[in-house]
Amino acid sequence: MRRRQFLATAAACAALPWRRLRAAPAASRIRPFAASQVRLRPGPAHDAAEVNRRFVLGQDPDRLLHMFRTTAGLASSAAPLGGWEAPDNELRGHYTGHHLSACALIWASTGDVQARQRGDKIVAGLAECQRALGSGYLSAFSQDLFDRLRADRPAWAPFYTLHKIMAGLLDMHTLAGSAPALELVKGMARWTARWTQALGDADMARVLEREYGGMNEVLYNLAAVTGDAQWREVGHRFDHERIFRPLADGRDELKGLHVNTTIPKIIGAAVRYELTSESRYRNIAEYFWREVTERRSYATGGTSNGESWNTDPGVLSTELSGYTQECCVTYNMLKLTRHVFQWTGDPMCAEYYERALWNGILGTQHASDGSKLYYVPLGSGYWKLFGTPLADYWCCTGSGCESFAKLGDSIYFRDDSGIYVNLFIASELSWRERGITLIQDTQFPAEPRTRLVVKTANPVAFELRVRVPRWVARGGSARLNGVPLGGFAAPGGYLVLDRTWRDGDRLEVSLPMALSTAPMPDDPSLQAVLYGPLVLAARMGKAGLGPDNLRAEPTRPRTVPEYKGDGLPTPTLTGAAPWVRADAGGSLTFQTIGPGERRQLVPLYRLFDERYAVYFKLPTP
Ligand SMILES: [Zn+2]
Repeated sequence: MRRRQFLATAAACAALPWRRLRAAPAASRIRPFAASQVRLRPGPAHDAAEVNRRFVLGQDPDRLLHMFRTTAGLASSAAPLGGWEAPDNELRGHYTGHHLSACALIWASTGDVQARQRGDKIVAGLAECQRALGSGYLSAFSQDLFDRLRADRPAWAPFYTLHKIMAGLLDMHTLAGSAPALELVKGMARWTARWTQALGDADMARVLEREYGGMNEVLYNLAAVTGDAQWREVGHRFDHERIFRPLADGRDELKGLHVNTTIPKIIGAAVRYELTSESRYRNIAEYFWREVTERRSYATGGTSNGESWNTDPGVLSTELSGYTQECCVTYNMLKLTRHVFQWTGDPMCAEYYERALWNGILGTQHASDGSKLYYVPLGSGYWKLFGTPLADYWCCTGSGCESFAKLGDSIYFRDDSGIYVNLFIASELSWRERGITLIQDTQFPAEPRTRLVVKTANPVAFELRVRVPRWVARGGSARLNGVPLGGFAAPGGYLVLDRTWRDGDRLEVSLPMALSTAPMPDDPSLQAVLYGPLVLAARMGKAGLGPDNLRAEPTRPRTVPEYKGDGLPTPTLTGAAPWVRADAGGSLTFQTIGPGERRQLVPLYRLFDERYAVYFKLPTP
């Protein structure tokens, strides 16, 4: 935690009689809990995870293996997949990697044996392919793509695809205990080491200009898992100095970059810092995180327009379209945020995480069948254009399967002193090392409160730190075992209870939500409306929408989903703020007020199969 924030938190808690102020910030490192220690309980996150679990378990492992087997010269009678997994698509194989990650995460976070068995089956199939190829190489396309990459000839993104497969295998090892999966990754890493050794630094710098996912990250993770420093050295070959240098110097030169190519490189820098303690790489990641979250993100926490950063920092009013906020980008920003939070304990990381999770992840899966979204349009009059199950296999189909398989991974963190409660999601945490179970009972955001119950065989002393978001209105309040506490933390900090907890102790925290606006940094007359952390979307009807355009290109080869010039004008409001009010009854529906056209607003994450607007044009004073 940075000193300024520590003081703010300490000051906020100074009025509390049970608060034992420390002389110095906590030195112990913040860590996440293992996926197996958090179980979701009924609520919107649990519902979404279940939809995704069915989506993942509905895939045929033999079809996911088909092009791997064909590439290895092995027999396969399965029908090839379509979309970006089709036999002629140069990204084929990437989804199988994401799918392995999803299986491992589902197993770890729910205990679903089917998910682990399916992951094990795919790993066994991939092992046969790697054995048949004999060089450690493992892919759903031949090495020809890498030859073309080396020769600077067209090839989509061969290392991007390899990274997904390696990450999926490593997840099967670390989350599902698969020993063969680790051997497969090591084989792929050995092949990668040989491929990169043949290239000098100048040639490698040229290779790094082609999207390569998080090759540095997965090699650093492999070094951490195995303790083998050789993978760290191979990882260094994928550290993109042209991107890193300005960030290390505190310069935002992100304009013009492809967003989802860039963020995984920065996650690699973050993991390098954790592996080697080289502060330069922490500085790169932290500067990047602050720049993107504070100056390049919409009210939703998302970033990117047409997959790129097209403007100088702080310029977003020109960046509203049907192609904003690619879902992989949010997935990757959330991954990076977890690292930054673990270094800093900064509640702003959790605040950002919550914003991007509710507005950039939870509404990006169709509840009917688990289909995933590619973009979250923020231009007015667009709609959510979903993929089709078993057909599209976009990058975001893959990252989406992972996102919805790990909705519990950032609710809680820990350090030597206690637990951080960062998100308000119904769940159960088993802190086995301390013999504690913490149950979070909430229907948030349908109710503005949460309840935490401690289960423990013996009294145990620890700090329970509950985040008090900046969006909390009118001051929150808390009750311990029914007795009101005499103080509360200021919004943007933590309510810290440092005490000996007994079985059944119950903390109820009230977190009043209110309407607020988020103006564009470069055009304050363009505003989004939020209720607590939820960005609201104005409903704009279903005109022209039907089965043919609610799903991407259902009858043609699948590419990036296309909106055919179907935006609508941004709604203009003539009244002065406040110009939205909540409907009675706490239903999370809202209405515009004032003399202009009335619109109903609902949380963006709950809106499907309809046109909407997130930003409104207000009269310029
Ligand atoms: Zn994507």
